[in-house]
Amino acid sequence: MNNEILLLGTGTSVGIPMIGCQCEVCQSTDHRDKRLRTSAYVTYEGSAFLIDIGPDFRQQLLTHDIKNIDAILLTHPHRDHIGGFDDIRALNFLSDSKKIALYANDFTWKSLQKQFYYAFQPSDYTSLPAANYSHIDLESFNHNGIPITPIKLKHGSMPCLGFRIGNLAYITDVSEISESEFEKLKDLDVLILDSLRKTKHPSHLSLEESVEIATRINAKKTYFTHISHHMGLHSDVEKELPEHIQLGHDGLRIQF
Ligand SMILES: [Zn+2]
Ligand SMILES: [Zn+2]
Ligand SMILES: [Zn+2]
Repeated sequence: MNNEILLLGTGTSVGIPMIGCQCEVCQSTDHRDKRLRTSAYVTYEGSAFLIDIGPDFRQQLLTHDIKNIDAILLTHPHRDHIGGFDDIRALNFLSDSKKIALYANDFTWKSLQKQFYYAFQPSDYTSLPAANYSHIDLESFNHNGIPITPIKLKHGSMPCLGFRIGNLAYITDVSEISESEFEKLKDLDVLILDSLRKTKHPSHLSLEESVEIATRINAKKTYFTHISHHMGLHSDVEKELPEHIQLGHDGLRIQF
């Protein structure tokens, strides 16, 4: 079976280019320097999962002609990861008003309900985003018989979840991985990992920290995501990295 992760977006919260920015990265004509907000589409053993629904969700699904999503997995409730929630209406329309399966922890779900309050109160408006929420914690869960393992992450002071599906792990928005979670990250074919920029940041990994963690986890291939324009040009940074650790870019498809 063709298991694949498609990186729909690999940019930090403001995206690249950032509005109005004249820096060389924002002005670059290299398509790899154009980064929508971080999200990924995983097809695994016949099921399709979307990780996060950021503000670029609609554009990302149109660009890649994605119509089929079996479930949405949410990492945390920052706006750059859930801002596209209203646009799941299109998926509701396509599936005859079926609610789309959505997995999140309590913290994320409560915050999403606050941010999109109108979808969760009585209304005579007939077009509201509709999700079938399943509560997840740190235990592995199944969707369509596929086991998914949440990974506990610290994102500054905010909790965040990573996900392992088969031999793929997806870890965005992290500043620290608890020691106990490294157990869940053994024998990976592919690791997608947060790497914001070269200098340190309170709630994300710097390039140096990401390389250190990627080296420890030792997946066959690691790709960085959630990249800021402060990281530098894709073509420059890739030269500084070992062959099995690379920057991701929007539209990159990786088989595993
Ligand atoms: Zn810039
Ligand atoms: Zn975040
Ligand atoms: Zn983010």
